[in-house]
Amino acid sequence: MPYIPFNQPSLTGNEFEYMQETIANRHISGDGPFTKRCSALLEETLGVPSVLLTTSCTHALEMASLLLDIQPGDEVIVPSFTFVTTANAFALRGATPVFADIRRDTLNIDEGKLEQLITTRTKAILVVHYMGVGCEMDAVCDIAQRHDVAVVEDNAHGLFGRYKGRYLGTFGSLASLSFHETKNFTCGEGGALLINDPRYIERAEIIREKGTNRSRFFRGEVDKYTWVDLGSSYLPSEILAAFLCAQLEARDQIQSIRQRVWEYYCDNLQDWAQENGVQLPSVPDYCEHPYHLFYLLLPSLEERQAFMAHLKTNNVASVFHYLPLHLSRMGRHFGGEAAHCPVTEDVSERLARLPFHNSLVEEDLERVVSLVKQFQCGS
Ligand SMILES: *Cc1c(COP(=O)(O)O)cnc(C)c1O
Repeated sequence: MPYIPFNQPSLTGNEFEYMQETIANRHISGDGPFTKRCSALLEETLGVPSVLLTTSCTHALEMASLLLDIQPGDEVIVPSFTFVTTANAFALRGATPVFADIRRDTLNIDEGKLEQLITTRTKAILVVHYMGVGCEMDAVCDIAQRHDVAVVEDNAHGLFGRYKGRYLGTFGSLASLSFHETKNFTCGEGGALLINDPRYIERAEIIREKGTNRSRFFRGEVDKYTWVDLGSSYLPSEILAAFLCAQLEARDQIQSIRQRVWEYYCDNLQDWAQENGVQLPSVPDYCEHPYHLFYLLLPSLEERQAFMAHLKTNNVASVFHYLPLHLSRMGRHFGGEAAHCPVTEDVSERLARLPFHNSLVEEDLERVVSLVKQFQCGS
């Protein structure tokens, strides 16, 4: 039986043609026609005032940290159950991450535990829409507003997902996207900064262009460009933007493949999950998720390990997700041991993700599901 990988890159049709066009256009550095096409597509579809492509989601969050003027001693609240980047981008500017626990149902930041973590030093609340299911944004935004702290959305999973009808990535003053190869839409490595608060637009362009006002220069608004602020080099090459553009333009095709995968797993594993005490993803009825991933919460760490070994023996990949950040070496350095995140610790040990990518075919799905069903918990 051929190996079924957890993730695998795939083409939708126009990627190479667009990449060749960049050479014909004689523009392969950043901010050419394909970068503009990607930004415009995202701005129009999501209704965001400004979308800037970046070299990664990590870099978009570093830009957010610079835009919020994060200083040493500031605190940012982050879920412990997330990718390193959500905290590191702010720690890099001297912030102390304060770790919040997650909800048992959606695995998103527990909005009920947020307020007690806010201090006079809190500058921002970072939310991660796990699996692209929206965090409880009504409550999060209300708390942030009352305490005058910014909301930043790490929306690496949630492009085109919605919370109460509104697109994820449009709630925070700033939000990030990822186009890493494991995400729904990709160019290998890439990301974007979504700017919902227009006050940040001009400075964001400067930070992204090595601290210069080059963007204004290219628009003819100033007659030379110079160093005006802090910044770095956060523009992806046009070659990558061309690849990404083809993927974003084929979003309906990609999303319908992914919907099929997600629903196949969900429909066919319902009974097995119930019989075996396995928790499947939970999606509140006011959330539309973009079919980013599919996970199982096995009853115990031992069963999770045995389950993953069973798939591996049969040539099917599965992976766990996120070790608790507060217990990592860097997390402990920031006092994470004192954080109270029992749900994160528990979930992290029991979660397994099934293969999920755009080239999975019916046969693959049947094989994965029948293997999963062979596994009996407590036996
Ligand atoms: C993938 C991911 C990132 C990192 O994205 P890059 O584009 O690789 O920097 C950040 N946060 C979350 C939640 C992710 O899943």
